[in-house]
Amino acid sequence: MTQVTMYSILEKKKHGKKLSKEEIKWVIDSLMNKSIADYQMSALLMAIYIHGMDKEETAALTDAMLYSGKTLNFEGKDVIDKHSTGGIGDKTSLILAPIAAACGVKVPMIAGRGLGFTGGTVDKMEAIKGFKTNLDLEEFQSRLYKNGVVLIGQTGEIAPADKMIYALRDVTATIDSIPLITASIMSKKLAEGANGIVMDIKVGSGAFMQKKSQAKLLAKSIIDTATRFDKKCVTLLTNMNQPLGQAVGHSLEVIESIEVLKGRGAKDLSELSLILAAHMIHIAGVESNFEKSLKRAKATIKDGSALNAFRDLIKNQSGDTSVIEDYDQLDLAPLKTDVISPINGYIKSFQNSEIGFMCTELGGGRKIKTDKIDFGVGFFFHKRISDKVKKGEKILTIYHRKSQEKIVEALIDKFLNQVIKFSANKVDKPELVYELIKN
Ligand code: URA
Repeated sequence: MTQVTMYSILEKKKHGKKLSKEEIKWVIDSLMNKSIADYQMSALLMAIYIHGMDKEETAALTDAMLYSGKTLNFEGKDVIDKHSTGGIGDKTSLILAPIAAACGVKVPMIAGRGLGFTGGTVDKMEAIKGFKTNLDLEEFQSRLYKNGVVLIGQTGEIAPADKMIYALRDVTATIDSIPLITASIMSKKLAEGANGIVMDIKVGSGAFMQKKSQAKLLAKSIIDTATRFDKKCVTLLTNMNQPLGQAVGHSLEVIESIEVLKGRGAKDLSELSLILAAHMIHIAGVESNFEKSLKRAKATIKDGSALNAFRDLIKNQSGDTSVIEDYDQLDLAPLKTDVISPINGYIKSFQNSEIGFMCTELGGGRKIKTDKIDFGVGFFFHKRISDKVKKGEKILTIYHRKSQEKIVEALIDKFLNQVIKFSANKVDKPELVYELIKN
């Protein structure tokens, strides 16, 4: 190979040319040993975003990122993880991990932080006082069989290249790219040693994949990678045209998740969490088919075993379990401002990504990678797509700080003029799951 430089690689990708396996490995090695700068990596991410990568390049990128750190191996087909491509109000991991664990599935979850307009499971769990998401790998590994579920953030040890790239993508508008998402998700999932993966691929205005056709390509790309590594993989294409559940914002989402585990909470959130958990239970081999797995998942809510598994998860990772009975233990912003419907009609749609950006505007997301999240701010939606609204009725409540009154005023204006659309006629209830694709 002729002398590789970052400049030559950037030149190549800028013109849409294919990078070799060696070049891709060189980039990831150089990123890891800090011999290339963040701005060069950002430029490459943008070139990949614009020109894409073919199947071989995506495989080479996934492998290079996967082997940038340690890889784990768990015995037994009952070690299953779930991952989402990210959405607004998507807190299913907080619900399905304890459900699956209560059914005997081992869940080694290495979850993400907020990315772009989407929230992240790790940030949500950190809203619980004391909850540690930075266990080292040895602890992660040794606790899995004992605890059933372990939930940590990206460590410096597992796919560290993804951790670096993820933080850059978050602030350089290079997220919604099929090869970058595939390599990011699959490098982590393969490294953490799960033997099967359930993927929730979000589609719609609050997802990185806006169209079903794109989401299907991503599903295929993820399944190809899983198959190459001999892992079972179920992908579900699910609706992200409105927040999942009623809550958006970290503490609010923890409360809503606990409500679902108590058998209450929003129907769409509960239904999707149960479906995803059931696929985990099924591919773990706990039950022989999906229907039996779904029944078993539902039973864990009824008999309280899923809630107990969530309590154990919090306790095992040093969190304050009193939050389960007392939501005041969470930091919740003290002021509530309602957004009122200006007309009679039906809710037709939301520009859902803007709801994520609105949350960031309040401090509930990061604008730069070092930003600290305010767990207490967010939104609670009283009305969802297809609901009837009367003029003067509450559509949502904004949770905010006293110093944010001006921001809230601007957000309400934006919400009513750019985010929500009304219809004078009845609107169909949105579908929750569009399609299932598996290997
Ligand atoms: N989740 C990830 O881990 N990576 C992505 O790129 C998108 C969602």
